[in-house]
Amino acid sequence: MSDVFQQALAEALPLLKEVQKGIKSAPKASQTALKRLRKAATTRPAAAVQPLPPPPATEWTWELLEKAILGCVKCPNLVASRTQVVFGVGNRSAELMFIGEAPGAEEDKQGEPFVGKSGQLITKIIEAMGFTRDDIFIANVMKCRPDMPGEESGNRKPKGEEMATCLPWLREQVRLVKPRAMVALGATAAEGLLGETRLIRDIRGTWLEFEGIPVMVTYHPAYLLRNQTITEKRKVWEDMLLVLKKLGRKITPKQERFFTTAAQ
Ligand code: SF4
Repeated sequence: MSDVFQQALAEALPLLKEVQKGIKSAPKASQTALKRLRKAATTRPAAAVQPLPPPPATEWTWELLEKAILGCVKCPNLVASRTQVVFGVGNRSAELMFIGEAPGAEEDKQGEPFVGKSGQLITKIIEAMGFTRDDIFIANVMKCRPDMPGEESGNRKPKGEEMATCLPWLREQVRLVKPRAMVALGATAAEGLLGETRLIRDIRGTWLEFEGIPVMVTYHPAYLLRNQTITEKRKVWEDMLLVLKKLGRKITPKQERFFTTAAQ
């Protein structure tokens, strides 16, 4: 009980007792006591205030999530420059997800992640693993193409804060897909997904985690297109062999030998 209320009550109690005893004349309270009572009535102790219940968490379904992401306007500059939001494609119950950084010009035009030369290489890797592209869910950390003010063409890396703004959408996609493993392609995707700033060469070949799901970080296909040596291809392939083992897939002797001199 507040001090103000206690003090006002102490002054008012004798008057109330007189009323109870049957004194006919109207009781008189001092102006000060009345003021204190009024103030006490509006000054409630903090414990009496009940906090509002938290709003219910959104129960995402694919339908609701797709509608929300495709209509997202959280980044006004990207909304102004994008052709469309690149939602992600593939099996929505996939056991494996591939994650890139953001759409480039071609993805922005076609509305699909990993198209063009990098996309063709990813498709080859997926097929060498024994899957089809439709077996996997492929998405980017950022769903809109990074804008290029004053530039007609070209792509730029998404900024950390841009990826952080968009990451909640990917998190909800991951929660719906419930994959058993994920592959993050390239340093920027690893940074956006996991906050990783270490070099790929220092983290590839080891398991990291997103939302409790094992994540393998490996080189971006664009890197492999620039460095077409057998040793770099083998590194990515060894990461994929680890992914297959994690998924409990049987690895054939031929698969074991890919990108080794024995396979040549
Ligand atoms: S980048 Fe992501 S958060 Fe920003 S507008 Fe596009 S969908 Fe929304």
